[in-house]
Amino acid sequence: MHRNIIPLFALLVTSLLIGCNSKTGADLLVFNAKIYTVDSLFSTAQAMAIKDGKIIATGTDASIRERFTAPDTLNAAGRFMYPGFIDAHAHFYRYGLGLQTADLTGTQSWEAALAKLDSFAQQNTEGWLVGRGWDQNDWPNKAFPTNEALDKLFPTRPVLLTRVDGHAAIANSAALKFANVTAATTLTGGTVVTKNGTATGLLIDNAVDLVASKIPPATPAQVAAALDDAQKACFAVGLTTVDDCGLDYTEILAIDSLQKKGALQMRIYAMLSDAPRNYDFLFNRGAIKTPLLNVRSFKVYADGALGSRGACLLQPYSDQPDWTGFLLSPASHFDSVASAIYNKGFQMCTHAIGDSGNRVVLDIYAKYLKGTNDRRWRIEHAQVVSPLDFGKFGAYSVVPSVQPTHATSDMYWAGERLGRDREKGAYAYKQLMQQNGWIPLGTDFPVEDISPFKTFCAAVFRQDARGWPAGGYQTENSLTRQEALRGMTIWAAKSNFEEGEKGSLERGKWADFVLMDVDLMQASAAEILSAQVHATFIGGKKVHGK
Ligand SMILES: [Zn+2]
Repeated sequence: MHRNIIPLFALLVTSLLIGCNSKTGADLLVFNAKIYTVDSLFSTAQAMAIKDGKIIATGTDASIRERFTAPDTLNAAGRFMYPGFIDAHAHFYRYGLGLQTADLTGTQSWEAALAKLDSFAQQNTEGWLVGRGWDQNDWPNKAFPTNEALDKLFPTRPVLLTRVDGHAAIANSAALKFANVTAATTLTGGTVVTKNGTATGLLIDNAVDLVASKIPPATPAQVAAALDDAQKACFAVGLTTVDDCGLDYTEILAIDSLQKKGALQMRIYAMLSDAPRNYDFLFNRGAIKTPLLNVRSFKVYADGALGSRGACLLQPYSDQPDWTGFLLSPASHFDSVASAIYNKGFQMCTHAIGDSGNRVVLDIYAKYLKGTNDRRWRIEHAQVVSPLDFGKFGAYSVVPSVQPTHATSDMYWAGERLGRDREKGAYAYKQLMQQNGWIPLGTDFPVEDISPFKTFCAAVFRQDARGWPAGGYQTENSLTRQEALRGMTIWAAKSNFEEGEKGSLERGKWADFVLMDVDLMQASAAEILSAQVHATFIGGKKVHGK
């Protein structure tokens, strides 16, 4: 007996030592999570090992413990983990600039608006004071304000406060003086409102621009503050990559330098706007690709929006029979930029809302793409599509990039604009998803809220944040929960040519992930809408949470 025990004991010790020594070093191990990896099988895991910002393994708690050792461990306490959310269509920089202005939306009186502005001014002490969102219809005294009280508060610092619709603004005397606007100023398409021979500060329509155009451009410090505020808000809702749809190359260079300094951690897929200097920039320089920045595409506008009847329709608007909307440039412009972008090997992303706008773009895309391909040219919004045109998305591998909250914002009046038949081909996300078998989702923030959870609910339940309508809007075009989560992660990554590095929690990809208390695959719409993000990680580093 003794003779056998000793060698067995020795063997056991040896194998334990080998086991310890053979553990792989990692930087961070996460245990006790329910991980939706969003891999091709939609598999789940419990634990993850991270090294150098990337995932080196996922598996059960036991298997990760057995194979890896790390100085840092994180007990997820049973929380749900998702790949970091990707917003495939947003205006990140513009959103950040908006955060540098005072939000007067919903104020209940002029005095309340001034109080809000005053506290904003104490936090933001430099340069012009800009505010937006007031609506005198919400106030007890429904008359337009004058700038007397504003001048008392801000005798020297210029102030411009724009009404909720952007068609009126109130400027203080310092701002009027700076812009050389007086009671004698007249212009076409606007009014400088006067009382007893002096300007009251109220500016109507084009008169707003007389002052707004004099606001100095953002300083480098203001740009940095705008981007930092934007990323903080995005991290708090679990976003780890955003597509910024339409930037000037100078703005992209500013983003790149802040990222390289470590002042901006958000990953950004930046589309250049449709301007000759931007084509020159990318065509000469070539694509830009860093771990945080990817620049290889152009954002072009085919038409306007449905709400303002700027969308270009094949047949007249149902609520304005003499009007079809219009294209923002002649079709020959879209054709020539498509030709140049195609020949240089870049991606074209075109805003198209109306069924005519979509058809023009699809047909120009088809001319260059010829058949199925991997150019991943996108149509942004793809909002109203003729039954004759859906198949073109599949035939030419055109990616419909959609924003589900547009459906639940527009559903109140889309039927009036379009009539019943056309409305069936609007916000048709399921039908669009089926064309290529995948679809990226976004929000278009700040046009809509930044929340990916509103996107998820709008896509799956086809209800707005108030839970309306009870049964959902045109639910034949609902996405499944799994499709919606893929749309916010791996499919959004794919629309950016980044599915090899992010969008799912798999070995070799960035450790960009979100921890939450809510199970998106099970929870009710109400639970998802009120969900809080517990923590957000980018490249294995916590960017939000305790
Ligand atoms: Zn947009």
